[in-house]
Amino acid sequence: MLFGQNSQVQRNLLSKVKFASYDCLLSAVHVNNNHWNLLFVHAAEKKVYLIDPFKNAPEMEASEKAADKFKEYLNMRRQHQHSDWANINWEGGVLKHPCQQDGNSCGVVVAMMAKEIIHYFPEIPEFSFSTTRAHMIKGRRLLAFDLLQGSVFQNDSWCVMCASKKTPISACKVEWIQCDTCDRWYHADCIGLSTKDVKKAAGEVEWKCLVCK
Ligand SMILES: [Zn+2]
Ligand SMILES: [Zn+2]
Repeated sequence: MLFGQNSQVQRNLLSKVKFASYDCLLSAVHVNNNHWNLLFVHAAEKKVYLIDPFKNAPEMEASEKAADKFKEYLNMRRQHQHSDWANINWEGGVLKHPCQQDGNSCGVVVAMMAKEIIHYFPEIPEFSFSTTRAHMIKGRRLLAFDLLQGSVFQNDSWCVMCASKKTPISACKVEWIQCDTCDRWYHADCIGLSTKDVKKAAGEVEWKCLVCK
């Protein structure tokens, strides 16, 4: 939608999607294969925000370009009988937001911004989180926890950490542990339990996993 060629539209029509029945569109956008931006389309405000966690990124320019590409995409879609959102004059916009303070937290910042946007929508959020190293570590952990809680693996056979039935690469002997509360299975290695820890857990009346603790 944002970086593709016209010739690719036919294959990416999203013909089952009725844009008009949505109030917003939110997507992580991978840029140059090494960086994450956040695309936020606010239908009522007719705004397209391409939010870049980097400090001093030319966001207005990028958002205006994104708005133009989005308009182009919707117009091409109209030629294939999908006219929703095609008559809106989308404009680029900029949001005030926290910036990453290191070279590798763009994804965390993008996910945290997305969370707050959803929380405050349709209001435009005043982002309240900090991007210090400690906050990024905590943020990563919370996001991983959200994913873990939402995981829909077969609880009785898959390791919910690595989603695999296979041996974790670093383990020479595979040990599994099952939560007595939710029945999720874990490779001991995937949650950093040593053989000693597993033995200790086996001796306990009840072992609770990270989700149930
Ligand atoms: Zn595992
Ligand atoms: Zn559990």
